[in-house]
Amino acid sequence: MFYIGCHLSASGGFLKMGKTALELGANTFQFFTRNPRGGSAKPMDPEDAASLMALCKAHNFGPLLAHAPYTLNACSKDEKIRDFAYRTFVDDLERLEYLPGSLYNFHPGSHVGQGMEVGIAQITDILNRVLSPSQKTTVLLETMAGKGSEVGSRFEEIRAIIDGVKVSEKIGVCLDTCHVHDAGYDIVNNLDGVLDEFDRIIGLDRLCAVHLNDSMNPFESHKDRHQKIGEGALGLDAVREIINNPRLRHLPFYLETPNDEAGYGREIELLRSIYKESL
Ligand code: FE
Ligand code: FE
Ligand code: ZN
Repeated sequence: MFYIGCHLSASGGFLKMGKTALELGANTFQFFTRNPRGGSAKPMDPEDAASLMALCKAHNFGPLLAHAPYTLNACSKDEKIRDFAYRTFVDDLERLEYLPGSLYNFHPGSHVGQGMEVGIAQITDILNRVLSPSQKTTVLLETMAGKGSEVGSRFEEIRAIIDGVKVSEKIGVCLDTCHVHDAGYDIVNNLDGVLDEFDRIIGLDRLCAVHLNDSMNPFESHKDRHQKIGEGALGLDAVREIINNPRLRHLPFYLETPNDEAGYGREIELLRSIYKESL
């Protein structure tokens, strides 16, 4: 099964997103748990969540991907910001229990001058305070482009965080194709080499999702600007290799390209046309 979806606005509620996904030819989607640049979350509507779960089941959706706000920084130098990250994490995970089996993706954070080791220790600390063996959500560390003091642009950093997490079965990784290319992993010319490296350092069993984006910037630029599929530094041939790769093709893919809904619909149609149903 090819699980393909895109980022959708959560402003109309849960069921609305499921219906929009269907209209766009998607069988999964990503959404922000709250205002991506602020903090407030809408009150939880359990009935709306249950309606979405029923729709997902009826249409064989892949796992839904909830994205934490960008303002969540688990390794900020500022203790108040770290505390906001902790409280947001707890609140989001509680709410996601109404969407059982979902994934929760977050940017590991920016250590802002504290150094990589301190950053990794603070991220691990928050994860150890929020993860519980009974939760129904898997939390994903997103691979980053390495902008500024971002943690998580090297596979070794992701591995170091995972190594410190006690509830190990609830932690996974989301690979962002724009970010890893910007970070200096050559998925255009050496996809299999990059996957070998991912497997050796992190373990491919940790990989739960792919953010499928092209990049506006060249290889190793450490920029993080997404481009439409086939229109950036990756190009359509590389994207075709990625979605059909035997080690990736079973994973859910989520578009975060600069598109409106109609544009996402066209990209999903394009991707379905180049996905090989069998190898
Ligand atoms: Fe992200
Ligand atoms: Fe992403
Ligand atoms: Zn990005």
